[in-house]
Amino acid sequence: MRPKPVRIDLGGCNVTLLSGGRLRLDGGAMFGIIPKALWSRTTPADDDNCIQLACNCLLVEWQSDTARRVIIETGHGAKYSEKERRIFGIDPADWLLPTLLAGGIDPLSISDVVLTHLHFDHAGGLTHEAGGRVQPTFPRARVHVQRREFDDARANFGVMTNTYREENFAPLDAAGAWSLLDGPGVAIPAPRPGEPEIHALHTPGHTRGHQSLLVAGRDRRLLFVGDVMPTRAHVGAPYNMGYDLFPIDNRASKRRLLQRAVEEGWLLVIDHEPETPLVQAVSDGAGYRLEPLNP
Ligand SMILES: [Zn+2]
Repeated sequence: MRPKPVRIDLGGCNVTLLSGGRLRLDGGAMFGIIPKALWSRTTPADDDNCIQLACNCLLVEWQSDTARRVIIETGHGAKYSEKERRIFGIDPADWLLPTLLAGGIDPLSISDVVLTHLHFDHAGGLTHEAGGRVQPTFPRARVHVQRREFDDARANFGVMTNTYREENFAPLDAAGAWSLLDGPGVAIPAPRPGEPEIHALHTPGHTRGHQSLLVAGRDRRLLFVGDVMPTRAHVGAPYNMGYDLFPIDNRASKRRLLQRAVEEGWLLVIDHEPETPLVQAVSDGAGYRLEPLNP
C-alpha cells in the first residue's frame, strides 16, 4: 500500500509531497570527489556500488484559487527499455502519474509544471506513452523552466550521455507548452496581491540553468532545493556530484541557499532523499546540517 502523502499548510497554499518513483545511481558518481570510506557511512551502497534514490515531487494548491494547481518536478517517468530499467532500478509502474491517480488527482487539473532542470530523472514524467505515441502527461499545463536550461538541454550541453532526451521535450513543443524564464524572479505569480507565489532562484552549478523553487506561503516558505543538494548527505560544501558541470559554482549556490534557509527559517524538500525529504537546515559550527522534520 502507498503511504499517505505528506501535506503541509504554508498559509494560503498547501504543498503535498508526492513520489515520482525511485532509481539507483552509482554511489561514486553521486558523491564526486568524496572517498567511499566517508560517504558510505551515511549512504549504504549495494553490490553494484549503487545507492537508492527517490524522485520527490510537489503539488502546490492555492486555497483561494482552485483552478491553479502546480506540480514541481516530474521524476523519471516510465519510458525506459528493459536494459535501462535494470541499470537504473526503475519500476515503470512507479512514477508520478500513478501516484497522482492513486491520490484522486486528475492530470487535466494541473495548470502549471515547474522544473529545476531537464535531466531525465526530473523531466521524464513530462511525457508518457499512450495510444501508441508519446504525449504530454499534463495536457493543459504550462511548463516553466529557465531558458538557459532549455537551450542547453536542446543542444545536449553536458557530461552525461542521454540525460537530455527529446522524447521528454518534443511533445511539449507541439503543444506550445513551454514557458521560459530569464533568470531569477516570480515563476508562478500570486492570484491576488498578498497571496502565495512561487519564486525561481537561479542556482547554477549542477547545470548552468538550474533553478530552485521557493513556495512563498503567507506564514511559511518551503524551498524545493533540486540537484544543488540531492540528498541529506550532500549538505557538506565539498559534497558535489560527479555529474555537476561546475562543482565550484554548485558549492556557492549551496552555501547561499543554506544561509538564507537558516536565516529565514525555510522548510526544505530534498529532491532525491529516499527516506526523509522534508528537513530544516541548522547552522553547525562552520557548516550546516539538515534535520528531518515530522510534519
Ligand atoms: Zn540532474
